[in-house]
Amino acid sequence: MAGPDVSRQILMGSKEGGKTYAFNDDHDEGIPAQTWFQESDEGLILFVVFYTQACRWSRCLGCNLPSQSTLKTVGYGPLIRQIDHLFTLPEVAGRRLDIQKLIVSNNGSVLDEATFSSTALMYLMVRVNLNLPRLRVLCLETRPEYVDLAELEFLSRALKEGDSATQLEVAVGFEAFDARIRNEVFRKGLDLPVFERFVRDVGRYGFRIKTYFMQKPVPGMTDEEAVADIHQAIDYLDGQSRAHNVPINLHLNPTYAARGTPLAEAFTRGEYQPPRLVDVARAVAKAEGANVKVFVGLFDEGLAVPGGGFIRPGDEALAKALDEFNKTGDFGLLKAVPAK
Ligand code: SF4
Repeated sequence: MAGPDVSRQILMGSKEGGKTYAFNDDHDEGIPAQTWFQESDEGLILFVVFYTQACRWSRCLGCNLPSQSTLKTVGYGPLIRQIDHLFTLPEVAGRRLDIQKLIVSNNGSVLDEATFSSTALMYLMVRVNLNLPRLRVLCLETRPEYVDLAELEFLSRALKEGDSATQLEVAVGFEAFDARIRNEVFRKGLDLPVFERFVRDVGRYGFRIKTYFMQKPVPGMTDEEAVADIHQAIDYLDGQSRAHNVPINLHLNPTYAARGTPLAEAFTRGEYQPPRLVDVARAVAKAEGANVKVFVGLFDEGLAVPGGGFIRPGDEALAKALDEFNKTGDFGLLKAVPAK
């Protein structure tokens, strides 16, 4: 698909999503938007966000990631320069033998060939195999409708040629299980048949899936409804995982009232309260015995308005237990902390 058509789609999506932000057209096309390291139970993680044309969907409520991207086409030439830049960064070159997971994002969909060139994706695989010999997981962030068998086949072959056994993890945003909240309120544009086709295709290659959910993402949801939504998500993903023999992770982000968003305004008006941490623990507890591994995002990165976070005074022991649960998967930790 040609650039101007994609630009039109992005503008149409932004308009439908009520977005008022400007795009970041001034960034150097030869340098990734962001790179950073994370230490985790999966070892050293390198996170890279490539600078490309913005997300073609661009409608999701509260998402301003496209504002970090450009409306212009970024072709394979500049994208290859970004990949070269990544692997020549001293901190990446110096730690390349320790990197066990690489997470690749473009603030949109890495597997949308209209915004992330296939030539550049192939080149990325070349550099990954050459530069990261101990890589165990390659994670690609994308919307599920952009995942096709040709890409999975190519990625599978390339990963098999690497020096170490590397799993592909495809990460998709789901946000809420309730279809009305997900698609009408959130404008996620994700229907279950599309997700199920994606799970089936990923399963054919023995890859794994990560799904992002939010607990109590919108005003008007009670704490009980928010817990029930995550319980339904766990049941559903458990079924999908078993049916297609695909490992599925659920990354649960308790919602906070982020500065500068309508949610923060609703919080200030007294119309929204973030989920209670004890309800986050209750939501997670459902995954015991399920074929779904849950990880709880516990940090609001300082972006919550005062009092608008999900960790309140008195929650310290439970926050610690959830942090430990993330590392161990031990459900006993959640039961050991009494509810407030
Ligand atoms: S698909 Fe992702 S990047 Fe695009 S608007 Fe939705 S949340 Fe934002």
